[in-house]
Amino acid sequence: MTLATSIMGQLQRRERQISALFQTTRAVSSSLSLNEVLNHLTRNAALALSTGHSSIRLLDEAGETLNLAAAFGLSKAYQEKGPVDLTHNPLAKEALSGRPVIVNDVTDDARLQYTRQVLDEGIHSLVVVPIIGRTGPLGVLRVYAGQTRRFSDADAQFVMTIARQGAVAIENAMAHEALQRAESERAQFVRTVTHELRSPVGGAQSLLRVLLQQMSGELTPTQQDIIARVEARLDALMALINDLLALAATTTRGYQEKPEPLDLVAQVRSAVELRSAEAQEKQVTLELSLPSHPVHVHAGVEGLAHIFGNLVGNAVKYTPEGGRVSVAVELRGPSVHVAISDTGIGIPEDELPRLWQEFFRASSAKKSGIVGTGLGLSIVKRRVEAYGGMISVVSRVGEGTTFSVTLPTCAPPQEPSA
Ligand code: ADP
Repeated sequence: MTLATSIMGQLQRRERQISALFQTTRAVSSSLSLNEVLNHLTRNAALALSTGHSSIRLLDEAGETLNLAAAFGLSKAYQEKGPVDLTHNPLAKEALSGRPVIVNDVTDDARLQYTRQVLDEGIHSLVVVPIIGRTGPLGVLRVYAGQTRRFSDADAQFVMTIARQGAVAIENAMAHEALQRAESERAQFVRTVTHELRSPVGGAQSLLRVLLQQMSGELTPTQQDIIARVEARLDALMALINDLLALAATTTRGYQEKPEPLDLVAQVRSAVELRSAEAQEKQVTLELSLPSHPVHVHAGVEGLAHIFGNLVGNAVKYTPEGGRVSVAVELRGPSVHVAISDTGIGIPEDELPRLWQEFFRASSAKKSGIVGTGLGLSIVKRRVEAYGGMISVVSRVGEGTTFSVTLPTCAPPQEPSA
């Protein structure tokens, strides 16, 4: 090999490594999925060193066993070769103490735990580096090579650099997944409790209705008044239970609706129709302006019913007698815009940013004596955003409020072929 060829070879290797490092930074910093991060790391480490094989093992909670978390270019049999526990694997133990370990002849190294399986896989040399997080070692990154490749200290240092970058991304992804798990468990707990509460409260509501309708005997006006007040309290409790259930459904894994192309116009029309009796009773004029054709959005029926049921319901609820609520659906390029405006009590401007927080109720609503849970809007916002949309609000105390929802449109559902 001439000097020129050797220098060219080294330059090409360097170029590959820099490109792999760049790819690693870009890929791992843009993902919060642990699997994705680990797969990027193994792939980039193997390709950068031109070996085509690598793996990441992460320590279990007890810090005794290294479990396979990602593999690149390794056979299934090799991946399943057995547990790597620190007492039987001096190589891993050495790496976890904080420095890279190079084995350039696997046949002649007593530190290996699975020599036969390593040789069966065609591996003759390997480099093991620690992945060290903020609180200590997280695991090891290994890169393997066949007979013709020997690892240098520079190679090991390079894998260390990848592992260092990886550690930050792995910790971020682990924290993110732990948070999601905790949120999902919390929501599951709320779901179970509220579900259990629903039937006794529902039962009590029906019994009170029987009493109030005087089917089980006449009531004195005082008794009627007391029972009506208990009924109102139970109605408020049921509304809270329903809101908590809806909130939990937006965060519990497996309970989210599968989105499909739905006609938004029909959904908004039915949300308005559902509130028309209440509006009429309060002498609130309900106006509706819709496009003459269907407009499809990618969403769930329950989700859309919740979004528009809540916004139209609030508009009617927070608008005093004689007021007006108008709902308008309008196509705007690739999006559809729905405005729900009312001439109601309004919301103080400085409170608007907190409107989307769970349990927040504006001072104007509390002063008015109108009951509510403060949960509806937080769920509405989550749902709108889950469908790729946006929600905003403008309001003036004593004049009225307008909520605007923008959702991306989609193609109508495919007709099933005959
Ligand atoms: P609630 O059950 O209290 O109505 P929401 O989450 O639906 O809960 O709304 C949160 C708060 O936002 C309400 O308590 C009220 O202060 C305010 N709000 C929502 N919609 C309107 C509206 N159309 N007019 C005035 N205030 C509103």
